[in-house]
Amino acid sequence: MIQTKAYAAQSPTTDLAPWNFERREVGSHDVQIDIHYCGVCHSDLHQIRNEWFPGIFPMVPGHEIVGRITKVGDHVKKFKVDDLAGVGCMVDSCQVCYNCQDGLEQYCVEGNTQTYNNLGRDGQPTYGGYSNTIVVREEFVVGISAKLDLAAVAPLLCAGITTYSPLRYWKVGKGHKLAVVGLGGLGHMGVKFGVAFGAEVTVLSTSPSKEQDARALGAHNFVVTSDAEQLKAVQGSFDFILDTVAADHDVNMYLSLLKTSGTHILVGAPSKPLEVPAFSLIPGRKSVAGSTIGGIAETQEMLDFCAEHGIVSDIELIDIKDITGAYERMLKGDVRYRFVIDIATL
Ligand code: NAP
Ligand code: ZN
Repeated sequence: MIQTKAYAAQSPTTDLAPWNFERREVGSHDVQIDIHYCGVCHSDLHQIRNEWFPGIFPMVPGHEIVGRITKVGDHVKKFKVDDLAGVGCMVDSCQVCYNCQDGLEQYCVEGNTQTYNNLGRDGQPTYGGYSNTIVVREEFVVGISAKLDLAAVAPLLCAGITTYSPLRYWKVGKGHKLAVVGLGGLGHMGVKFGVAFGAEVTVLSTSPSKEQDARALGAHNFVVTSDAEQLKAVQGSFDFILDTVAADHDVNMYLSLLKTSGTHILVGAPSKPLEVPAFSLIPGRKSVAGSTIGGIAETQEMLDFCAEHGIVSDIELIDIKDITGAYERMLKGDVRYRFVIDIATL
């Protein structure tokens, strides 16, 4: 077994603290990665606090993992020792269902195996990237270009693919007006991709102080959602809204900003159910849709797109001992625009 150092939550009411555990030996189809950086996703906070469902404790969060490969199994074909590699939100799936065969492992009919807070196909709990090393089957590992700043690549493994995938699926681009709700980890990547794909991008934010940053990220317009005048000016104007909000919020206000036949795409995952009256949708043939992460091939495509276009996340690098403070700032919407843990500080 492989001795592993980590930070874990022992229960939904305790802060993260150092914890050691063992990972499986490298199997013939596995790679072992020495983790250099791990991004901090709002999903980490939802899960250590049991906001979605009762979690598996001790819990080692982290699904924005990048580092260098230190060992490969006998049958590994895609990777070799010393390659830069990444792991996102999934570490396994059935590989044979119609969704897996279509490159949609995130929608595996048996359920994909999440990188942490899940049981693997061997029945053992999975532990994430707030740790110094990880063992993953090669099909769930992606390659990373040395052209990009490695720490700033980490958030692409979740925040990046979660915004890239729906924008590609709905073919958002030139001629479309896209609104991104919430300028946090996912939102700032949604802005970068929306701009890169040629859409006119508006940020809908609760934080007036983020306007300058939004424009620096490439957004064409910025609307403070608490300002009735600003909201009125954008009624019925968007083809798509990408909703990245983590907190409970009223989507009906946003639905009124869609054009006829517009689509509100939820990627944010608040714990409370949405309440959408029929009359928020019927009069304008509007849709509310959802999307989660992306498949492995699409994640590689996104990373290659980022390498080609010089796209990375805007990050604040932190020591792992400062994780609780980072969560507190995240809850206040004070993320600019993704915390990334320097795993060397573990
Ligand atoms: P984050 O960095 O905390 O960003 C969320 C942003 O939402 C905040 O920065 C804030 O932006 C805005 N916001 C906060 N409270 C709000 C409120 N009450 N009303 C309206 N806006 C509010 O979080 P994240 O890491 O980007 O994650 C966002 C959500 O996506 C989480 O629920 C997470 O679990 C989910 N997620 C889903 C997937 C998926 O596969 N679908 C993947 C990853 C994450 P402003 O200051 O600009 O308002
Ligand atoms: Zn995430």
